[in-house]
Amino acid sequence: MEKAQTIPVQRPSRWDKPLDASMSDADVAWLRTRAPFNGMDRSAFPKATPLDGILRYDCRLHRVEPGEVIVREGDYGNSAFLVITGSVRALLDSLPESQLGREATRVIDWLEALRRYLGRSPFRESRSSEQVSINATNDRSKLIRDIDDRQAVFLQDTDAIFNRYENVSLGPGELFGEVAAMYRSPRTATVIAETEAALLEIRWQGLRVLRRDRKFADTLENHYRNHWLPVHLREIPLLRFVPEENMARVIESTQLRSYGRLEWNADYKKTRKLPPNEQIASEPLVLDQGQFPTELIIVRSGFGRLCVRHGAGHQTTAYLGKGQFFGLEEISYNAFRPESMPSIPYQHSLRAVGFLDALAIPVEVFAADVLPHVRKNELPEVVGHLVGTKTDALKDRRLNRTENRRTQPATQKQTSPQDSQESMGSSFESTSLLEFVVQNRFNNGRDAMVIDLHRCTRCDDCVRACADVHDNNPRFVRQGAVHDRLQVVQACMHCNDPVCMIGCPTGAIARDMNTGVVSIHDSICVGCGVCSAACPYQNIAMVEINDKKGRAYVDEQSGRPIKKATKCDQCRGLPSGPACVAACPHDALVRIDLSESKPLTQWLEGRS
Ligand code: SF4
Ligand code: SF4
Repeated sequence: MEKAQTIPVQRPSRWDKPLDASMSDADVAWLRTRAPFNGMDRSAFPKATPLDGILRYDCRLHRVEPGEVIVREGDYGNSAFLVITGSVRALLDSLPESQLGREATRVIDWLEALRRYLGRSPFRESRSSEQVSINATNDRSKLIRDIDDRQAVFLQDTDAIFNRYENVSLGPGELFGEVAAMYRSPRTATVIAETEAALLEIRWQGLRVLRRDRKFADTLENHYRNHWLPVHLREIPLLRFVPEENMARVIESTQLRSYGRLEWNADYKKTRKLPPNEQIASEPLVLDQGQFPTELIIVRSGFGRLCVRHGAGHQTTAYLGKGQFFGLEEISYNAFRPESMPSIPYQHSLRAVGFLDALAIPVEVFAADVLPHVRKNELPEVVGHLVGTKTDALKDRRLNRTENRRTQPATQKQTSPQDSQESMGSSFESTSLLEFVVQNRFNNGRDAMVIDLHRCTRCDDCVRACADVHDNNPRFVRQGAVHDRLQVVQACMHCNDPVCMIGCPTGAIARDMNTGVVSIHDSICVGCGVCSAACPYQNIAMVEINDKKGRAYVDEQSGRPIKKATKCDQCRGLPSGPACVAACPHDALVRIDLSESKPLTQWLEGRS
């Protein structure tokens, strides 16, 4: 038989794309003399990812100047920073947005809205010079400056800022930003260079391998366990009445787990085209249906898919988002069941949809330290009626609840029993709708634009209304993925995981901490297009801009057109809310949270 032909290609490797191609042997050798690398045990690293390789390929050296903003509170990022020389200050208080060159949201009145409408430019994408560049306003020693090959934002009068806002100084050997990098959560502080400093940026992949060094891993874990884990656990409604002493045991035994790739958006274009079964099979398995429960999983960030075996494949039954549980029903049933009844295994499999970051509480700890302090009406329905049979185990609950209410912080979110029931997953009546939402990763959308195609007459009033309030520039096109009568329009969904925000060099794309709206701040957008390339839904457009007379702005050095990133900003500041919704004459368009199924289900129920 003729031998099948083969095509030799170079096998792709983990480090095909170094974080910084200019890192040299000399840089690596120098870093090896600095803490913490000088104390690391080289033999702890696998052959495929040696310590020198991590320093060479997963790291980048930055020289920062006094006053430079290194990370901003609320930013998303995939990297941590290690101070090598010099010092930086982490602000424990929030800086006003204007200090960072961002425009604070201001609710305007109808008169101003009308004035803006009447004064809108006849030319597309026109801007005043102040909107083009913050440096055009006045030369406050240039807020955005070129440092080496990058553009950086500077604060003015840092001494006054350091005096006014509480802060801590970090020096050589100290790390910051690692929690946000590894667990995909917003940065909790703005960090500014105090002196000229050398920083090592370490991307999350490298950070994870560095944990092979026991001492480094312990430092990272202790920091997280002592500072953040108690905060994250206390945010979970089901755990809110757990007394301190029991909580301490929960904190000690909870494992931190991550599945899939943080850069799920890079794979998304490929995987969304796969048939559902293949897509499910390609997702990392967290726990398998039929397995005896060993731990309760709480989603900390990312998304999980609940599925059951169906013929030769799998069927999705629900998806889980931040704060939701896997295994609660089975574990509580097993804990409260009469002895005459057999215990049950996990009824579903849990898979990571792209990326899933989770907390895992061992079954014994959850049963002993958490379950006795959960209110009966917060337990899954199937378990609720069994609880009465275990009154002994629960007799102190009322007392504990009263005691904890006294000590509960005023800011803690109050949730209803329904919230806890929903914490077990978001599901739609129709499996195909559920598959559609998960397959397209629309479950990431906190404020998706959905059109009912049975009512939409294609009049485009929504698009025109958007253009009217955005100076003649519509911020979406009426197109997008369709399922049955629903269309999810290509407009920014103000996502739960706004991957577009990762990598913006100036912090121009930012999320409002109160409203969750993701907006672009024109005057500090340098038009690099990083956000547009990162948005998996193609909801950011890069546009060339003009002045009010229609003359194109160009770069004074290269002569190339100046571009800005644009997208839906939810009509930030408009008294009526999003103009698209208000303008639709047929009640066909809605902005809806797809990270839960209830809003869409309820909306659909009201349709004819
Ligand atoms: S731009 Fe894209 S990724 Fe960013 S919030 Fe909007 S839809 Fe989500
Ligand atoms: S194009 Fe996007 S990533 Fe680049 S500066 Fe503007 S907002 Fe930031």
